[in-house]
Amino acid sequence: MIITETFEELLSECKKNKQSIYEQAQAEEAFVQDLAVDYLRDIVYRNICAMKECIQNGIKSKELSKSGLSGGDCKKLQAHFKNSPALFGKFFEKITVYALASAEENARMGKIVACPTAGSCGIVPAVLITMVEEENISKDIQINGLITAGKIGQVISNKVRLAGAAAGCQAECGVASGMAAGLLTYLRGGSNEKVVYAAILAIKNILGLTCDPVCGLVEVPCVKRNPFLAVHAVTASEMALAGIVSKIPPDEVVDVLARTGNLMSPVLKETSQGGLAKTKTGIELEKQLADKL
Ligand code: SF4
Repeated sequence: MIITETFEELLSECKKNKQSIYEQAQAEEAFVQDLAVDYLRDIVYRNICAMKECIQNGIKSKELSKSGLSGGDCKKLQAHFKNSPALFGKFFEKITVYALASAEENARMGKIVACPTAGSCGIVPAVLITMVEEENISKDIQINGLITAGKIGQVISNKVRLAGAAAGCQAECGVASGMAAGLLTYLRGGSNEKVVYAAILAIKNILGLTCDPVCGLVEVPCVKRNPFLAVHAVTASEMALAGIVSKIPPDEVVDVLARTGNLMSPVLKETSQGGLAKTKTGIELEKQLADKL
């Protein structure tokens, strides 16, 4: 069994075996973990159910997080769309509301699916669950889609540690956006190449995104970053489905993601020593929180 580590290897193996990315990915995972494919698919479906549950909890709650830095925005957005439907329609409304719902749940310490990380937990579920609801996607296709997204994240993680502390937010929300773009492209019938290009177009356009959480908490800017990058995934997917490719090959873009992460100052990698965390207001919020504790 060949375990593919790059996008080039993945696409070539899929082509050789005339199969989709999810088929290659699930076969690899079953081999590596010595588990039955059906068992793995059950685990993936349990994660999809947990994503749905998280969104359901998030859209109902207006509770603030313990720090008070986040919470309530998902409710505000729902109320806004009720009075004034989004210019981009129902799909846009759901994606943004669902991404906020999960990200706020994370800040409230609710149950989430880290996908690939907790800070970026709203992006993939928002795109997947919106499609499931709006396009009536079957259980099997949902599972295939999430496995496809997982493989995209796994290939990237071979070169880049998916953590703000290691490579900035480009490696968390950015990679999540790439995973969501690939997932969406698969769900809409895109070829393996288009799935990979969608992911890479999304990632190319968030290179350099810093990690500068205010008060060291995964709330500001993290929560709002989720709906932004969920929508970003849709743009990338539409472009890839149109046949638009990245001039820079996918694996070279991943190399740049890794190099950019290495070049990024530690001040901008989850240390809260710079960026938004060290604005006048960021410092003030830090003081207020310290007094509260
Ligand atoms: S800003 Fe940092 S902590 Fe927040 S989601 Fe991005 S990588 Fe995670």
